[in-house]
Amino acid sequence: MPKTTSQTATGSKNQVIKRVLAFDIDQTLNIAKTPIPPEIAELLRDCLDYFEICPISGQKFEQFLVQIVEPLKTTGVSDQQLEHLHLFVAQGTQYYRYDPAQHDWQQVYNYPLPEEDVVKITTVLEKAARDLGYWEADKLAPGDEIIENRLSQVTFSALGQSAGTEIKYAWDPDCKKREAIVEKCQVELPDFLFEIGGTTSINVAKAGMNKEFGMTHLLEELQVEKNQILYFGDMTQPGGNDYPVVQMGIDTITVRSHEDTAFALRGILGVVR
Ligand SMILES: [Mg+2]
Repeated sequence: MPKTTSQTATGSKNQVIKRVLAFDIDQTLNIAKTPIPPEIAELLRDCLDYFEICPISGQKFEQFLVQIVEPLKTTGVSDQQLEHLHLFVAQGTQYYRYDPAQHDWQQVYNYPLPEEDVVKITTVLEKAARDLGYWEADKLAPGDEIIENRLSQVTFSALGQSAGTEIKYAWDPDCKKREAIVEKCQVELPDFLFEIGGTTSINVAKAGMNKEFGMTHLLEELQVEKNQILYFGDMTQPGGNDYPVVQMGIDTITVRSHEDTAFALRGILGVVR
């Protein structure tokens, strides 16, 4: 059963009605880096009738389409419902909304990293991983890469993007390898933020460009108050990539997997319907 840190979606001690359900993606809505399962897609589609739905994750826009939007489309989601879906890409440093007139997604804002920062981060990450013996270039699929420029952030994925989920889970289940890499990098790049996420990833961004940045812009763009949001994430512990949301004082449900999220969403829908 998911662990909830405070109130329900529909009411609370102080009678605040939630208007927004925000979600981490990897391990919260899916098995990391894969499309959301049909059950989650159906639950999200139904929630679009009652809430603004905001996935926020370190991934690129194209991955949001593959992992969230395409599976939603197979559930027969309507244009009207998609208008309530808000994509906060690359930790919310980019924001996309659906335009029903164009039947397409429009970028609302974008805050990219300068090229010189991308070069600096890439160099330091590779050196740290090599020094520690965690640079696994020989295990990559052809054309795949360990370090990827995601415009607003640089992401290290130890085994690349296309490795199987099982070998990814096995690579660093206790986060120790990534913690060692981060420790080395932070000495070289104190002005950048390193976050461990997914199963093999480290996201690097300008300090302040974490989920707090994205959630702060979400508040502005959707014109809602913090207490109108309910956030779901699997890495809500200090140091995890969902922790900045907890620190903002936003109500958070900690899940272990998408099964926990499905359980909670069924409960929410049971109350609002
Ligand atoms: Mg996650």
